[in-house]
Amino acid sequence: YVQIEQAFKQYVENTVLQQVSLQIEKGELVTLLGPSGCGKSTLLRAIAGLEKLDGGTICVNDHDISHLPPQRRNVGMVFQSYALFPNMTVFDNIAFGLKMRKWPRKEMTEKVKQVIELIHMSDKASSYPHQLSGGQQQRVALARALVTEPDILLLDEPLSALDAKIRKNLQIELRNIQRELKMTMIFVTHDQEEAMTISDRIFIMNGGEIVHQGKPEEIYASPKNEFVARFIGSYN
Ligand code: ATP
Ligand code: MG
Repeated sequence: YVQIEQAFKQYVENTVLQQVSLQIEKGELVTLLGPSGCGKSTLLRAIAGLEKLDGGTICVNDHDISHLPPQRRNVGMVFQSYALFPNMTVFDNIAFGLKMRKWPRKEMTEKVKQVIELIHMSDKASSYPHQLSGGQQQRVALARALVTEPDILLLDEPLSALDAKIRKNLQIELRNIQRELKMTMIFVTHDQEEAMTISDRIFIMNGGEIVHQGKPEEIYASPKNEFVARFIGSYN
């Protein structure tokens, strides 16, 4: 469903992605896991079209999207810091993408209500971002990305700024929503426990390469090399 072939990116003398290839099934939630600077965000930004690759292709649903501008890719993105519109209510924040796509008012209201229910925020529809907790704001950011039904949803450390308990709850909530919608998601984190909890499969990155991939239990049981073992924490 998602096919990345030999993605390559460099900044001057610094190679950030070294011929990265990976495949993702429709409806899968995969995690890119790896240390700071290994190229996770660069890869996500390249998929979204916010970063130009110096080589390689990105296909979604058999279409090569490598040369399309971001607004024509039908890819959603959620970032670590909730970039909500401060002067808009929760409802209007979520409706924004549908308004841009000129949805008729009735269908739009219907759809937004449905998504607000999905994230359990029906009682906050008329609140403004500053009236919400960090966890609630991030749920709204998720809803805003979901509402347009993207082919893939990219999540770049969406829970990293939240404290442990809220983070755990949101991991479970996100996973439930992903299963319910059968949405294809790529989730970036440098937290191994988080990756283990939420993923169908994990891609471990280091130095601009994917060094290992597999289901959480496989990676945990038989890490391929010392880097993976240390990073996953099953190395004593
Ligand atoms: P983190 O976990 O800290 O978010 P990351 O895995 O997301 O790290 P990237 O942001 O993809 O890492 O960065 C990968 C490498 O690319 C880093 O070495 C970074 O310094 C470099 N890099 C990123 N953006 C630029 C840029 N605009 N110009 C030069 N180098 C860059
Ligand atoms: Mg990053």
